[in-house]
This record gives sequence, structure tokens and C-alpha cells, in this order.
Amino acid sequence: MSSTLITYENLLEEFKRLLRSNNLKYTTQRELILQIIYNNNGHFTPEDIYNLIKSSFPEVKLGIATVYRTLTLLEDANIVSSISFGAQGKKYEFGLKEHHDHLVCLECGGIEEFFDDTIEKQQEKIAKQFNFKMTDHIMKITGICKNCQNK
Ligand SMILES: [Zn+2]
Ligand SMILES: [Zn+2]
Repeated sequence: MSSTLITYENLLEEFKRLLRSNNLKYTTQRELILQIIYNNNGHFTPEDIYNLIKSSFPEVKLGIATVYRTLTLLEDANIVSSISFGAQGKKYEFGLKEHHDHLVCLECGGIEEFFDDTIEKQQEKIAKQFNFKMTDHIMKITGICKNCQNK
């Protein structure tokens, strides 16, 4: 599920343009953040991303603030999207993938993806009824996952 819709080469070009237009320098650290989120399917907290970079590239100097700032920049440009899981915070995922919706566990913060044709079609139908030109939607089911229910 959720195959990416852009090559890394094109993404990196876009990222460099984005940095330039925000008067930010291209750095290895910033690219590593982009790379991790592009190469790993899933949903990550800024701390997850920070720890992944730290363990894979121990020689790279990186502050958690850079991770936060870069993610915000990428989110504003719609390159990544975030899903909040209650008061615990936000998880980020690559934004340029095939459309999908989420189930979010409020106990452990676990996130699962799903796609349901009926739900998709129903939303289009509702938008049409309201003469509304739908450009996007966010569908999030919150609750307690199977594992947490069994605890
Ligand atoms: Zn859970
Ligand atoms: Zn997702």
C-alpha cells in the first residue's frame, strides 16, 4: 500500500528549491530527514526520525530542533503530512503517496492505514450534493487498537 508518487531525484530538487525560497542552506542533516521519511513507509514522531538518523549515521551532528523545523517546513509545502494522536503528539509520514486513511490508537499511538472505496465514493457524493468542489479529505478513526484492548 501507499506507493510513492515521485522519484527521490525529483523530490530532492523540490526540497532544495524549498530551502532556497526559505533562505535556508542545504545540509546533509536536512537531506537525511527527507530521506528517512521518503524511504520508510510509516508514521514517525520527530524523536523517531532523530533516533533513526543518530543510529544510522552516528558521525552526523544533529539537533532535535532541526528535525522539528525541517518537518514543519516540509509539512507547509505538503511534502509530508502529520497525524496527531491525542495529547501525545504528532506523527509524520511522506505526503506524496497514494491516498489512504488512518486508524489511530489513543493508547499506544499506533497508526494503521486503510483504503475503502465505498467511503471514498460516498465523500465524493456528499461533496457533489453540496455543489462543493472537493480537493482533499482527512478521514481518521480514533480509538483503542487490538493490542491495547487485550492489555
Ligand atoms: Zn494501541
Ligand atoms: Zn499513512
